[in-house]
Amino acid sequence: MGSEESSLYREPLTDKGWSDALRYARERMSGRDRVLAVSIVSRIDRAIAWLDPVMAGYCEQSCPTCGDPCCHGKRIFYNFADLLVLTVRDTSLPPGQTRTATGEGCRYLTSAGCALSRYHRPYVCVWFLCEPQMKLLQEESVRFQRTFLGALLEIREGRVALEALAVGRESDTTDQRAAREKKKA
Ligand code: SF4
Ligand code: SF4
Repeated sequence: MGSEESSLYREPLTDKGWSDALRYARERMSGRDRVLAVSIVSRIDRAIAWLDPVMAGYCEQSCPTCGDPCCHGKRIFYNFADLLVLTVRDTSLPPGQTRTATGEGCRYLTSAGCALSRYHRPYVCVWFLCEPQMKLLQEESVRFQRTFLGALLEIREGRVALEALAVGRESDTTDQRAAREKKKA
């Protein structure tokens, strides 16, 4: 049983390599339980919708004065789970991997910040909290922090479940258990 995401495609890709990777992700999902896949991605999207204004608020407070912007990191990539989420959702597909060669900057970084909506970013760009932002979260109520962590867990579980579905592997997540129960009924 798998609980970690695979590192497949977490590397620079040419645009052709990116198209091939998207095609592979689509092929892996074809013939799988489409209703289950869509419901997993809907749950992921609901959690991102909750997180988005929170993260945007933290960014407003911390990013303008940042001396070491995280988007300058050179090892931020989409991985296989990202590709599965993107292809199941199938709206506004990003045109490529974050970079086509090692050492390049992220192609989505603009002078106004990230050009992508949070739904279309690599997952690491969805959840990453730097130290100043971690402090902001710690200043929130315990209840709020629990909801925040719950949203991250929801996304993480969904991604693991989607990858398990794509490769025909069983996973321990709620979705997979529900699918097995559905089959037994
Ligand atoms: S999220 Fe944190 S590390 Fe990234 S740019 Fe903003 S303040 Fe800097
Ligand atoms: S995808 Fe967006 S958030 Fe992620 S590193 Fe690139 S510019 Fe930054």
